[in-house]
Amino acid sequence: MTTVVVTGGAGFIGSHLVQSLIEQGRQVHVIDNLSTGSAAMVHPSAVLHVEDIRDLSARQIISKLRPDTVFHLAAQADVQQSILNPGQDMEINAGGTLNLLEACRQAGVHKFVFASTSGVYGNTDKNPLEETDAAAPISFYGLSKFCAEHYIRLYGQLFGVDWTVLRFANVYGPGQTSKGEGGVVSIFMEKLRQGHPLTINGDGEQTRDFVYVKDVVSALLAAGNAGERDIFHVSTGKATSVNRLIALLRQQHGQEFVTLHRPAKDGDIRDSCLSNAKIRVSLNWMPAVTMEEGLRETYRHFFPAGS
Ligand code: NAD
Repeated sequence: MTTVVVTGGAGFIGSHLVQSLIEQGRQVHVIDNLSTGSAAMVHPSAVLHVEDIRDLSARQIISKLRPDTVFHLAAQADVQQSILNPGQDMEINAGGTLNLLEACRQAGVHKFVFASTSGVYGNTDKNPLEETDAAAPISFYGLSKFCAEHYIRLYGQLFGVDWTVLRFANVYGPGQTSKGEGGVVSIFMEKLRQGHPLTINGDGEQTRDFVYVKDVVSALLAAGNAGERDIFHVSTGKATSVNRLIALLRQQHGQEFVTLHRPAKDGDIRDSCLSNAKIRVSLNWMPAVTMEEGLRETYRHFFPAGS
């Protein structure tokens, strides 16, 4: 049975990945400091190590286990938090990645798969973006992820650690909390559940590429076996405005709700849509879940039948 390590496996995307890896019969070890994740999210068959990816102890776990693959998802993933505390993103997202890479090099880990972000690109008029387009992050979060990508590339080049970087669009689905990077769907669901108004930053015409978490997991699994030393978008390639999201939520909810507007946030990208042409060809991956289906499943999680 192959052993894999999932950092951030107690978080939103990581917990879905852990579940799928367990279902595939893998021996799964999770490294997570539970800063935003929770032990309850970790599949009971996985081994949870409550450790910080910046620490020597995290390195020692990898050295001891000598896993086949490390899926690195642990991160400070809140854009606004990165503006408030730039150094923290550098330490966790860049420094933590470097710490893990060093462990992988020493342990002879076969493959390092990294969860990166559309946030590396910053504001651009080009839509959809290709992987070859220039990165110019406008948040410290995007910058720290871009920096981590380069450490990964160099560890491949200089030390032979194989890697794949996946730049996720806005991920949504069951288990997402209202914190973190792409949380607008979960923030709105939570407000609906509480019967509170939904607050829209700016005019609501800003667009995002919303990709369902189960599709993201299938891309991570594909990257475990292919796409060596390359960068891929994990996205739908479709731009959806926040106003369109509100309209879909109205259909799903079946009842009226109030929306309020406030100014756009610093560091927020106006439009974000990623081409998925490359990953479709190279990893034979494409999104399988439509926005309507994904929202339905997410809604069911927030409003279980009978609640
Ligand atoms: P999340 O906050 O739910 O998960 C992150 C996990 O990492 C949490 O369980 C947290 O406890 C853990 N963690 C944070 N700092 C840590 C540290 N120093 N040491 C050990 N563990 C630590 O976020 P998520 O939405 O599941 O995101 C997972 C990954 O995907 C992140 O790397 C994020 O940058 C990336 N990503 C997410 C999105 C999105 O839309 N959610 C989009 C692009 C990229």
